[in-house]
Amino acid sequence: MPEPANSHNFLTLMPADEFRALLADWPALPAVTAGLDDAFGRFLAADVVAPEDLPPAPRACMDGYAVRAADTFGAGESLPAYLERQATIAIHKPPEFTLEPGRCAAITTGGWLPDGADAVAMVEHTQALAGETVEFRRPVAPGENVMQRGEDARANTPALAAGTLLRAPEIGLLAALGLSEAPIHRLPRVAVISTGDELVPAHETPKPGRIRDVNSHALAAMARECGAQADRLGIVPDDTAAIARALEKALADHDVVLLSGGSSVGARDCTVAALSSLPQAELLVHGVAVSPGKPTILARAGSAAILGLPGQVASAQVIMHVFVKPLLRRLTGDPRAFAPERGRMARLARNVASRHGREDWLRVSLEEDGDALPLAHPRLGKSGLLRTLLAAQGLVRIPATREGLNADEQVEVLPLGQPLSA
Ligand code: AMP
Ligand code: MG
Repeated sequence: MPEPANSHNFLTLMPADEFRALLADWPALPAVTAGLDDAFGRFLAADVVAPEDLPPAPRACMDGYAVRAADTFGAGESLPAYLERQATIAIHKPPEFTLEPGRCAAITTGGWLPDGADAVAMVEHTQALAGETVEFRRPVAPGENVMQRGEDARANTPALAAGTLLRAPEIGLLAALGLSEAPIHRLPRVAVISTGDELVPAHETPKPGRIRDVNSHALAAMARECGAQADRLGIVPDDTAAIARALEKALADHDVVLLSGGSSVGARDCTVAALSSLPQAELLVHGVAVSPGKPTILARAGSAAILGLPGQVASAQVIMHVFVKPLLRRLTGDPRAFAPERGRMARLARNVASRHGREDWLRVSLEEDGDALPLAHPRLGKSGLLRTLLAAQGLVRIPATREGLNADEQVEVLPLGQPLSA
């Protein structure tokens, strides 16, 4: 059967899950070494092996007396144990003696236990008597009130695994181990290009028929939410050669290039042609079974990703939020960048229809409802307008396998405008 003459005008849509899987497989950016202040909030690019035991020796958890636990066994209010104080241990020097049986040593929190001691009695449970005698009114068990050598980290074993998010506790551990630098993934450098003969920069007054460039600003802001460096490279007309030149320039020093506009199959949609003209670029996807945002493009040039987003302002932001921001997080080494369940649970306020085989993203606003789950109100509207996103707090996914969602159904709301991954 002959092909219809305009068959090339139709997009062959890739299922949204397949598209996500392609992005999720993108390799993370190379490792760089960063000081702890800069490493905070970033993902480890390699396992970190502890160079030494932490703590390096048994240390007291409490102020009190280092003892041989057995010397306190059976001690009680009516029959205390009495031990002679052998020494007072300094906080900044290891003790240079062995604790003798029947004796104790005064110790402060963090002090190193002397050889022979295996527990610390809290000062609150003791009474210093005349001379060097100390009364113990409770027994202590071996190991009680002691941080054991290597309990936080063991020398030559992994202390933190690659992919770990460096939160405050991890930064603290690295400092304790004397590791003042850590290998982390570089942050993405993102170029943002707007295409369209009708566009003028935001600071200009457009002539009739023209509009201001919204997307490069909004998309750059969203890239920055993921910690990326975002460079707006301006507006390019609907011209294949001009777009190709802009792409080449952007690829020279960026990990991700975002183009908006011209991503469909119309006469003025030049992005695919521009990509095809670049020898280093390989077109991977043109058209995704998703709404909004069907005319989405993905190409690869070396390790760089090129994404062509629809020009419609709301569609571009939804695609950015649902697919591109996770990709940027993936590039920073976040192992959970594409993991589901990042959102807040809500109840859908009413029925919403969708087409089987297409993944839909519903903009919703949330209404708190006392102790019940909040109500998610769908904000339906035109993709060329900004207001649906302005009114929305989040996005709800309608899976491709469903033909809609029902009122009162529990849904997960992916928050919009979420800053750096947590
Ligand atoms: P396109 O994807 O090029 O067909 O564009 C779809 C619609 O989005 C058109 O109405 C464009 O004028 C509009 N549009 C494209 N790029 C931008 C942009 N950067 N800012 C605002 N609107 C845009
Ligand atoms: Mg256009």
